[in-house]
Order: sequence, then structure tokens, then C-alpha cells
Amino acid sequence: MTTTSEPTRHGVPRLRVAPSPTGDPHVGTAYMAMFDLAFARQQGGSFVLRIEDTDRARFDPTSEQQLYETLHWLGLTWDEGPDIGGPHAPYRQSERLGTYQPYVERLLAAGHAYRCWCSAERLAQMREEQQRQKLPTGYDRLCLGRTEEERAALPGFSPDPVVRMRIPDDVELSWDDLIMGRTSAPQPDDQVVLKADGYPTYHLAVVVDDHEMGITHVVRGQEWISSTPKHLLLYRWLGLEPPRFAHMPLLRDEKRAKISKRKNPWARLTWFAERGYLPEALVNFLALQGYPPIVEADGSEREVFTFAEFTERFRWEDVNRAGSIFNLDKLDWLNGLYVRALSPAELAQRLLPHLVADGVVSPTPSEADRERLVDLAELVGTRIVVLTDATPLVRPFFVADGDLEIAADARAQLDDGAAEVLDAAAAALNALVPDGAWDGPSIEAALRGALVEGLGIKARLAFGPLRTAVSGQRISPPLFESMQILGPESTLARIESLRASL
Ligand code: GLU
Repeated sequence: MTTTSEPTRHGVPRLRVAPSPTGDPHVGTAYMAMFDLAFARQQGGSFVLRIEDTDRARFDPTSEQQLYETLHWLGLTWDEGPDIGGPHAPYRQSERLGTYQPYVERLLAAGHAYRCWCSAERLAQMREEQQRQKLPTGYDRLCLGRTEEERAALPGFSPDPVVRMRIPDDVELSWDDLIMGRTSAPQPDDQVVLKADGYPTYHLAVVVDDHEMGITHVVRGQEWISSTPKHLLLYRWLGLEPPRFAHMPLLRDEKRAKISKRKNPWARLTWFAERGYLPEALVNFLALQGYPPIVEADGSEREVFTFAEFTERFRWEDVNRAGSIFNLDKLDWLNGLYVRALSPAELAQRLLPHLVADGVVSPTPSEADRERLVDLAELVGTRIVVLTDATPLVRPFFVADGDLEIAADARAQLDDGAAEVLDAAAAALNALVPDGAWDGPSIEAALRGALVEGLGIKARLAFGPLRTAVSGQRISPPLFESMQILGPESTLARIESLRASL
């Protein structure tokens, strides 16, 4: 097996990620891109983004933009691509149709490919019949060696032909994979390379483009293993040097099934951004899906690492051959760690877009709002897993006192003693105002003195009504610091307002 320390046969590495724009970007695209990028950066090579949009039936025009946004959000940047151009432009396959045609002609002329006029109905019938007879499924070569005229005389003829590879029986079925070692795949059937609509299939386009774009390492999921012999054959027929292949372990759900956007909402990259995962936590998590933790000098394992650390130690031979389970609890754990490592100012910055989207903070916040948000970030940082968890905690601090809603469950908890608690608290806090000592510890001392010592009420019971008064919720950031942030006027107005509603 080749190790990364050996020079490659191809000089400076060039890697690419080649997603198909079929709806929301798949988390697997980011996973592949990360491994590509780690190796490219480590080796001083290039990373290319290519859009494989030859499947016109599944094409979604919004997905390309979403792809740019989510990959940028993750900090995975490319050196060449449809949006930024590059020496091998265009980088969208639909804009490269003229490139593929000469390759098809060469294959036809050399007898490595042939036209096939079988209609979709005939192919479906053929497949059904093969399945019924428990035969291997695959094209039966009815069109091989026939002219259009000869074929037209037979049933199941379509006037728009496809072009198929004529796969020999002795095709090479194995190769040295950078991750899997010696790998083999089953015998393919006569693969279509040019569709009836004039578009190349993935198989032809990927080979032509990887060659034309000088790609040295093809990194893709293990679901493509069965395609690799076809690609190697195309390289051979066309007299091109193949790249190295690295087939990555698949992302799997808890049932060990390959994850899909249809079954798993979190297979969509936008899901993570919307919920407020931190990109650096997701990158760390995705690296762990295919790569072991760092082993420290003392033998202990470290699962938390930056992309730069990952890049530095990356080696193909260390990539896991079997994928781990996509465990969202683990991602939550990692995200919590990354959230708590942020300074309050940084966390406030990250929270802002979510709070704006949730209508809590104005898109053009005042300086005072920004400062308040930094103060709040310090309080909520330990209480959230994802950024959107902060919305209900922060909201009460950005509503006018008169607009504060008291949640039904919080109100239901207020008992007969609530009025007395609120009155005593208001008196104690009013007394604090002239001293100018409006900070968490002073507020706490005043309230404990008045309620716990003065009225003999247990702390838990004493502070519940106050929490409800200032936040409208049963759960809020720490009470005394919340009051400090709200300031004496708002705090007292809210206590009075709840008192009046009892
Ligand atoms: N367009 C393919 C995909 O969507 C790319 C596979 C490859 O990297 O060769 O996964």
C-alpha cells in the first residue's frame, strides 16, 4: 500500500469533491471534502469543486448555492470551482458536454463501445425475466453487432440510442485502494456511457473530467466500489493514467444502514447549520466518523481536535475501513465542549444570526443590545447544547416589560405564598437601589435575607416566583445575574406586574 510519505506518481496532489446538485447538500459531501482537503493542504496540493449535474431528472437549481454556503460555513474552501473558476473551467459537467463527445467517438471507433436502441420497456422486461429466472441481471447485448436498421426490425426499439461499454469477460476487477488495500468488485455489465439525451453518464464524465482536471486522488464513498473496475477500464481504453482511489467508509445510522436524506433529516447539511451546531464541532465529528482519535504521548486518546491538527497527522492508511455510527449524542457532546470554549463575545457573535432569525434581536442591534447579548452569552453558555437552545433563554431579555409573557407551566407553579414572596422581594430590591449595589451577589444577599431568613421560606420556593416574574419561564439563566442584566427598573416592574396579576 502507498503511504502518504511516499511521493505520488502524479507529482503535486490534486483532489476534488464532485457532488450532484440533487436537493439539499448531503452531509457526506462535507465528509468527503474534509478528507480531500486535509490531504491536499498537507501536501501543498489543490482542492477542486466540480458539480456533477448530468442527471437532469434529479437536478435542483437551488442546491448549488446551498452547497457553497454550507461548505463555506464549515470552512472547507476550494481552490477551483464553478463559482471561482480555475485553469480547467468550466467546473459544471452540463457546461462541458462538448468535452465528452470525442471520448465517446474514440470508444466507438475502437469497438470498446456500441450503440444500443433498446427501449426502457424492453430493458425493464429483460430485467424482470432475469430476476424471475434468478439469473444475474445485466444487459443481454441484443444490440451488440447490429446496425440501426437490423435492430429496428426487432421488438422494443427506440429511435434514440444510448452508448454502452462492451465490458470484456476478463476485465480487471481489483486495484490497490489507498484506504481499503487490495480491493475488488463484481463483474460489471455493459454500462451506459452516453445517455439518449446526449448527456454522459456519471461513469464517463467522472473519468474524462478527473483526467482533464489532473485529479491525482479520487476520494469517494464505498458505495462507488462497484464502479471502479468500469472506470479503470475506461482509463485503459482511452490510454490515460488512472488516479489513485480511496474509498471512504460510509456514514451509517444506528441501524448500521447507509444514511440518506430521505430517512435521516440530519443527512442534510443545512440541518446542522439551522439547529446551531458549530461548524468546528461538526468538522471534528465528521473526522471521527472516518478517522481514529489522537493518541497522546501517555497513551490516552483525544477525540477533540481542530481541522489543522487533523490535516497535520492525516495518513490514508489510518482511515477506518468500516464507518462508525453517526451518533448525534456524541455530536451534542462535542458541540457543548466547543460552545463552552468560546469567549462570551464570540458566543454572542455566533448566537446573533439565530436570535435574529427567531425574531428575538433586531437585524441591526443597538450597541446596548450587543452588550446585553455578551452578558447573556456568559450566563447561557453552560446551559445550551446547540445555539438555538439559547433562544428561549435570551428572549425575555429583549422584550419590553409589558410584553413579557408568563408561560402557562410557570404560572401554574405559583402557589398561595407567591404574593408574599413578590412583595417582600420588591421591598428588599427597592432598598438596594439607592445604594447603587445592583449586582448579582448584592441582589442574592438582599433576597436571601428577606425571603429565606426573613420569611423562613426555602430557597427553592422563594426564588421560583421571582424567576417566573423576570423571565416568564420555569427555566431561565441564573436568577440574580438575570436581574443584574435586566437592571433595577425592569426587574421591579416585572415583579410588580406579576404581583398585580395574581
Ligand atoms: N457525483 C458523485 C456523487 O454525487 C461523485 C462520486 C465520485 O466522487 O466519484 O457522489
